[in-house]
Parts: sequence; C-alpha cells; structure tokens
Amino acid sequence: MNETKHECIVLRTRNTGEMNKIVILFSRESGKESVIAYGARKMQNRFGSSLEIFTHGNALIKEGRKTGMPTLDQMDIISSSYDLFSDYTVSAHLYYYSELLNTILQDGLTEENIFRLTIEMLRGFKLSLSADLVSAYFELWLLKFIGALPDYKICHHCKRPLSNQQFLYASVEGYLFCKECERNGVEKGKQFNGNMYNIIGIIFENKIDNAILRNLKVGKTDVTEWTNLLFEQTLEKELKSFRNLRAIREY
Ligand SMILES: [Zn+2]
Repeated sequence: MNETKHECIVLRTRNTGEMNKIVILFSRESGKESVIAYGARKMQNRFGSSLEIFTHGNALIKEGRKTGMPTLDQMDIISSSYDLFSDYTVSAHLYYYSELLNTILQDGLTEENIFRLTIEMLRGFKLSLSADLVSAYFELWLLKFIGALPDYKICHHCKRPLSNQQFLYASVEGYLFCKECERNGVEKGKQFNGNMYNIIGIIFENKIDNAILRNLKVGKTDVTEWTNLLFEQTLEKELKSFRNLRAIREY
C-alpha cells in the first residue's frame, strides 16, 4: 500500500469507534487532512503523546482502505506543545487557534505560509513571549495570508494616509478610516489605541524571535480587539473556543 511521509501539525482529534481516533492534521505540503489512527485510544498505544494538539511531527500516512479515510501509521514528534497547556492563558489561545485554523483551512489546499506562521506562533509561546504579543503577531499575519486584512496605511473613505494618532475602525466591517472623515460625518467608528499603528508596522517587519519584537509592548486589546472583529466578519460567526479567550482578554 502507498505510504507517504508528511510534515504536519495536529490540529484536533476526535474519538471514533471504541479504540480509534480521527486526527485532523495540518500538513506543510498538502494542507488540512483527516486521518484515522487505529488503536489510538488503547492504553499504551503506539502513538503515545504524539496526537496531542499542536504536536509538530512527521506522519506516516497510508492511503484509505474501506472507509476511504487515510490511515495514520506512525507519528514522530519533531516538537511537542504539550507543556504549553499547563498555562491557562496560553492554552485558551491554543484551543482558539486550533478551532480557527480548522475553520479557515480547506481540505487538501496547501497553505505553506500559514503552516510556517503556526510553527512561529508555537515557538513564540515556547519562548515565553507575552501572549498578547504572540496573538497579535499570529492574528495579523493570518488575516494577511487569507486576504482579510484591510489596508492599515490608507483611509478607507478619503484614501489619505493614516497616522498613529488619527484613526478609527468601522465597528461592523473592520476597515480603517481617519478622524477627519469622522468629523465630516462620513461614519462613526471605534478609536484605536494610539500605539497600534506602530505595533502593526513592527510586527510586519520582524520575525517573532527578533529582539525588537520581543521588547515590543502590546496591551491585551491593542490589536486583538480589532483582529477578532475581522475574524468574526470573515467567518460570519464567533467561534465557541473564543468565549473563553474573550473572558481572559476582557473586551
Ligand atoms: Zn479619511
């Protein structure tokens, strides 16, 4: 039978039958794919802790037999994320990102940029960077990659450049516009934190382990109040796992 090796991240699992699990993988080469792990619920099974959420590893996958679903034969861990779940704030973020990625990614569609971003997000948490920084980084880039990030340099209405003191966002659509347009009665919006413009610029210019980024002060809602609105707008719903996170972020 045809067996292939996939570098992947475990997004989520669910039980099936008495002893088995369906595992949703995010593969670097082939995007989201569901596989079945026979015997994964037996005590002392061969998968050990490799099927925990956000395990990064190499999976050996066999083409499907009767069920049509491919079989997960083996999972070799490159990097485990298990320890991250002992931190309540970090785990609330990770459960949300698991659901978010599972909702956004499409079966079989390669998303290598998002794959690398997910690895960087995990690395940020493993480096114990602030959850507010890691989430701003992950969410801004994810929005950019899926084409859902509005222009943050130019006013949506008058097309003049935005600056760090002078912009607002539309509380339904999420696009940005200037104070001048609000004064002229075009639209009323929500005021951004003044620091936000700089934060976005720095995030898009630096890798997550860069010192400039590491020292960047990001408040709880500086960026994510806006990015969450954009995700809700894009997905047309609020994700279940976001409720927990909302309580932590105190919007
Ligand atoms: Zn304007």
